[in-house]
Amino acid sequence: MLIIENLHKSFGKTKVLKGVNLHIKKGEILVVVGPSGGGKTTFLRSINYLEKCQEGSISLNGNYLLKEGHYANKKEIKSIRKDIGLVFQNYNLFPHLSVLENMIEAPIRVLGQTKEQATKEALNTLAFLGLSDKANSYPYELSGGQKQRVAIGRALCMNPQLMCFDEPTSALDPTLTEEVAKVIKSLSIKGMTILIITHDMGFAKKVADRIVSMDQGQIIEDHMYSESAVLA
Ligand code: ATP
Repeated sequence: MLIIENLHKSFGKTKVLKGVNLHIKKGEILVVVGPSGGGKTTFLRSINYLEKCQEGSISLNGNYLLKEGHYANKKEIKSIRKDIGLVFQNYNLFPHLSVLENMIEAPIRVLGQTKEQATKEALNTLAFLGLSDKANSYPYELSGGQKQRVAIGRALCMNPQLMCFDEPTSALDPTLTEEVAKVIKSLSIKGMTILIITHDMGFAKKVADRIVSMDQGQIIEDHMYSESAVLA
């Protein structure tokens, strides 16, 4: 599904990613953990083309964003990016737009959906996330967990094949963390592929099919993990 090979990224003379290799299967929930400064955020941003890498390959379902150090053309990059959703740590919701307006903006602008189409899908997504009553609320009226779910919903409205999460639980208490874990699990049951970076090992164990560690710009551990498998 997502294949990363020999990925290298430097900021000036600082080498941050030093040959990262990772294959993620369709429907898998892969969690990347590791010490601060190890390169996790840079890695996630590189997959989303928010950082440019100097060497290596990144491909999604056989379509190359980056092939042996060469980026695809603008049109191909745009098309691949549509298939990748990203939920940021700080939610990045538009403060002056309602929940519904936040959710329909990109489907209308990027996917060319009509307002009616986008609204119908957004309302379905809000129902799935248990937030139907918040459609007309503004971000400042929501709790952290609700904001997080709206941010997830906004990414889901683009119907991506891969969803990436940057520290999804850093601002949440344990109950809300549990809620986010449930939402992420249900996305993977629907066939979505999930990539998460986190410091929260408890959350990682709860949600992951596979956990890898990244340290000093490399994947240093890679093991299957599933609580159900451990219990069985
Ligand atoms: P954390 O868990 O603390 O978020 P991380 O594993 O996500 O850390 P990164 O944020 O990817 O690590 O940072 C890896 C290294 O890259 C750090 O040494 C950081 O200082 C450096 N770095 C990140 N972004 C930039 C940038 N825009 N310019 C220069 N150096 C950067």
